[in-house]
Amino acid sequence: MNTVALRVNGERLWSRLMEMGTIGATAHGGCNRQALTDLDLQGRALLSRWAQAAGCDVRLDAIGNMFVRRRGMDESLPVVMTGSHLDTQPTGGKFDGVYGVLAGLEVIESLNEHGIATRHPIELCVWCNEEGSRFPMAMMGSAVWSGRLSLHDAYALTDRDGVSVRSELDRLGLTAPALPRQAVKAALEVHIEQGPVLEQRRKTIGVVTGVQHMSRHEIVIHGQEAHAGPTPMHMRRVPVRALAQALPALYAAAAAQGPEARFTVGVIETRPGSANTVPGLLRFTVDVRHPDADRYAALKRAVHEVVRAALAEQTLEGEVRCVWEAPGVSFDAACVSAVRTAASSLGLAAIDMVSGAGHDSCNVAAVVPTAMVFVPCAGGLSHNEAESATAADLAAGANVLLHAMLALALE
Ligand SMILES: [Zn+2]
Repeated sequence: MNTVALRVNGERLWSRLMEMGTIGATAHGGCNRQALTDLDLQGRALLSRWAQAAGCDVRLDAIGNMFVRRRGMDESLPVVMTGSHLDTQPTGGKFDGVYGVLAGLEVIESLNEHGIATRHPIELCVWCNEEGSRFPMAMMGSAVWSGRLSLHDAYALTDRDGVSVRSELDRLGLTAPALPRQAVKAALEVHIEQGPVLEQRRKTIGVVTGVQHMSRHEIVIHGQEAHAGPTPMHMRRVPVRALAQALPALYAAAAAQGPEARFTVGVIETRPGSANTVPGLLRFTVDVRHPDADRYAALKRAVHEVVRAALAEQTLEGEVRCVWEAPGVSFDAACVSAVRTAASSLGLAAIDMVSGAGHDSCNVAAVVPTAMVFVPCAGGLSHNEAESATAADLAAGANVLLHAMLALALE
């Protein structure tokens, strides 16, 4: 069959999103279907029914990831994979993650309906505990799958009531023997953007080229507590002076790295925090992000240099240290190109973009060629019961997924 005219069934995709959304539905139109709860199990059961009706095999791995397989003409070939997550935040929406799973199922259904066989098998995965809201480890299932987190450490995670991942997997019957990771030719994930860029620029498709680099820094400056009245200015040791000197230079350093740089001073606090006392200590935080590795490194270095220079100038003691860092991800060029080609062949308005948020694809990309597709969401809102997207945009993203996967699975 000529596959150029092939499209997913957008109405079925929408009605399934709404049906999945009834499991854990909240008062304000959102979803509370947290990982490894009874509701999570119900969501998985619904997906399994749909997948089995579509003639697919469903299997689990040792950390409760689900894999739905559509056979290929050559079953010995590596799979072309897609997937996302079915778990939600406590006041989450109906689309975050769920859309990527049901769009993947829609790809399989569409191939079935048109009798299209692919050389490579296709696998749809549901990653366990992406949100990290109940068990404090976001992207847990994909981290175990990719070897970035040990099964032992994942099993030991507990929720606020002290219940462990291992005991919930057992209780829900979601454990299976550990399997060697399947060979994967390419992995794609379609997701709502969770930001405002596509909507503002009136584009339907984000071709996601990677995930930005990010880190947090904490700066502590020591001064000397003194009375605000009797102490002459030249006899004070004032940490705020170092901050005042550093801030303009820090904003300039961020601007020097172009419009994609993100620089945020989120916390500024003094101690003792009294209006008529020179503070003895000042603490502030800097959050730094950039999609480009060199520019990110330059900005991070500049933060430390600017602060040290301000301390030296003001002859004050202090420390600047990086307290958290998540390295960025550059997605695979061939996978990104498959997404871009699919969007353009469908005549959809698309732009390249970098994800500001983490996704399972960050872990997947560590071990197999990976890319992502974004579609707009209303007001850029996510992790919110009011999260919303249009049926047309969701169908467009699923069509991009379909054609990109088809191109990768046929050759
Ligand atoms: Zn998500």
